[in-house]
Amino acid sequence: MTTRQDCDVRDAEDPLRELRHQFDLPAGVIYLDGNSLGVLPKTALGRVQQVITQEWGHDLIKSWNSAGWIDLPARIGNKIARLVGADAGELVVADSTSLNLYKVLSAALRISRADAPARKLIVSERSNFPTDLYIAESLAQQHGLTLKLVDSVDEIPATLNGELAVLMLTGVNYRTGYLHDMQAITAAAHAAGALVIWDLAHSAGAVPVDLKGADADFAIGCGYKYLNGGPGAPAFVWAHPRHAERFWQPLSGWMGHAAPFQFTPNYQPAPGIQRYLCGTPAVLSMAALECGVDTLLAAEAMGGMQALRQKSLALTELFIELVDERCAKLGVRVASPRQAAQRGSQVCLSLAAPLEQASYAVVQALIARGVIGDFRAGDPADLQAMPHILRFGFTPLYIGYTEVYDAVEHLVQVLSTQEWKQEQFNQKAAVT
Ligand SMILES: *Cc1c(COP(=O)(O)O)cnc(C)c1O
Repeated sequence: MTTRQDCDVRDAEDPLRELRHQFDLPAGVIYLDGNSLGVLPKTALGRVQQVITQEWGHDLIKSWNSAGWIDLPARIGNKIARLVGADAGELVVADSTSLNLYKVLSAALRISRADAPARKLIVSERSNFPTDLYIAESLAQQHGLTLKLVDSVDEIPATLNGELAVLMLTGVNYRTGYLHDMQAITAAAHAAGALVIWDLAHSAGAVPVDLKGADADFAIGCGYKYLNGGPGAPAFVWAHPRHAERFWQPLSGWMGHAAPFQFTPNYQPAPGIQRYLCGTPAVLSMAALECGVDTLLAAEAMGGMQALRQKSLALTELFIELVDERCAKLGVRVASPRQAAQRGSQVCLSLAAPLEQASYAVVQALIARGVIGDFRAGDPADLQAMPHILRFGFTPLYIGYTEVYDAVEHLVQVLSTQEWKQEQFNQKAAVT
């Protein structure tokens, strides 16, 4: 059994340990929610302050040129491209993940409708993040197509046939942390004549991603999770160069125009991925996002995403080991894949009946102790298939082994003393 002392030794020997000093982490907090909202980079305050006081306050509108505001979507996009296996000039930062999905799914459907009009299905997973499913539902209606949802990963291969237009998957499942084999699934979908969209919300900055190597068609991702871009940070969008110019994306705003400052009445799309921009970039948010992305690029000299992945797996394996040893008898089950190759950078737990309904309160009690994870509601109609979960993200940039040990110790105490029964832990807030 791993002791707390063993964990201290592992932290002391961890070559990535110094990356933690890039962040302002509150004292007394073990932050296991970087998969939902990344932590604050130390550089962000000064950078945003500089944009406000100097670039906005003093230089005013000149800053679009002098401070390079107009280039932010492409400049930060090029940095994110390095984390996801895309080439420079292929990825831009813009809008939100939901909006970017609307753009790429529209484009993918138009390509599919043009090349193979008989294909009528969009396929995704029922456990995909709801906004992805809602956007797909709307586009399916618009195009007279059907959105088909599979209940498990094993059902995906059977959907790869002549009916499939677009396969839309999230690289790492937001609930279970299941990590898809992007390369194999993309190849199989292509062999069936379909296009593939990858949502990298829980992949970018969390696991190595190779979009070009996998020959993906489109990808989108989130700025405020593992990229540490700050609450509501802009998202990103990538289209394989073979698709980028085939159609307009539907939100044909002026920032995606070939010459926005000629103010012509007709739309002329910009070349390449630039046309996936829509309106004016959110400069303050972009400034913070760039600081977040830079915290990941700082790991490039230490082995980059491959090294971060090794540590992430070591952290999640330790958590699983300790939960199995110490919490199984308290009714806790590991709900994430146990095989490393199938696990993202998070681990989810579920509570066996009759404790199941206590899941929310257990997470609240942990938060009160400074161990911040989150609760994701199950499907009340079928808790067997989709249980309530306690979700814990492990971001190797700043989480250490001793923190993993201590988090499990707190979980043991919350359950064994039934601390979660206290009234204040059982009141649901607006955001869970
Ligand atoms: C977090 C997340 C989103 C968030 O979308 P927003 O437009 O930023 O609200 C979308 N999709 C997935 C898969 C996510 O995990």
